[in-house]
Amino acid sequence: MKEATLAALKGNLKALKLSTIAGNIEVHLRQGTDAGIGYDEFLLELTVVELQTRAQNREKRRIREAKFPLIKPLETFDLNAVPELDIRLIRELSGCGYITERRNVIFLGRSGAGKTHLATALGIEACKNNYRTRFVTCYGLVNELLEAGKERDLSRILQRYARYDLLILDELGYIPFSKEGSEMLFQLLAQRHEMGAVMITTNLGFADWTQVFGDPVMTAALLDRLTHKAHIINCTWDSYRLKQSLKEKK
Ligand code: ADP
Ligand code: MG
Repeated sequence: MKEATLAALKGNLKALKLSTIAGNIEVHLRQGTDAGIGYDEFLLELTVVELQTRAQNREKRRIREAKFPLIKPLETFDLNAVPELDIRLIRELSGCGYITERRNVIFLGRSGAGKTHLATALGIEACKNNYRTRFVTCYGLVNELLEAGKERDLSRILQRYARYDLLILDELGYIPFSKEGSEMLFQLLAQRHEMGAVMITTNLGFADWTQVFGDPVMTAALLDRLTHKAHIINCTWDSYRLKQSLKEKK
C-alpha cells in the first residue's frame, strides 16, 4: 500500500472515530494479506475488533463511574461458605433483569456477612451490561445532599441520582441521620421510586428503620415503596471473617 493511501485511510478511520482500527491498521492489513482472506472476512474482522474494544472501554468507564470502594467481583465470592444463600436468586440478579423491571434488592444481615461484597459484585455485573450504576454509602450520600442543600444545588444532585439505572446504598442503619438528612434521603428515594432500581445493604431489621429515619410515618411510607416487589435477601449467617478466623484457629 502506498504511503499516501495509508495516511489517507488512517485519517478517514480517525474521522469516523474508528480509533482502534486506525491504531492497528498496518498489522490488520499484513495479517489479512498473509492469511489470504477476502474483503468480506477482512471487514468483519475489523468491525469485531472495534466493537470488542468499545465494549471493554465502556465497561471500564461504567465501573469507574460507579465508584465502588473495592472491586469485588462475583467470582471472588465463596458460595460454599454461605450455604444459606439462595444461589439461584444471585444468578438471576446477575442477569440484571431486576434493573429493567425497576425492582429493588435489599440485603439484610449482620456485619461481615458479605452484603457489601454481594452488592458490589452485582453492581459490577450491571456495569458489564452497560447500566449506569452508582455505589454510595448512606452516610456519604446524606452528607452530599446536606452539603448541596447549603449551596442550593440540591435539585441538580437529586436529578443526577435519579438518572442512574442502579443505585447501591451501602450501610443503611449504621449511623442515624439528622431530621434534615433523613428528609432529603426520603425525597431522593421517592423520586427514584419506579424510575430505577435501588439496592440497599443494612444491618437493621425493617422494624428498626424508624430509629434511623426518625419519623415513623415517613419511614412507613419509605418502607412501603422500597419493599414493593423487592428481592429481600436475608443474610442470616455469621460474619465470613469471623468464620474464617475460627477455622484458622482450628
Ligand atoms: P458486610 O457488608 O455484610 O458487613 P462485607 O461484604 O464487607 O460484609 O464482607 C466482609 C469481608 O469478608 C469482605 O472482605 C468480603 O470480601 C469478605 N467476604 C464476605 N463473605 C464472603 C464470601 N462468601 N466469600 C468471600 N469473601 C467474603
Ligand atoms: Mg458492608
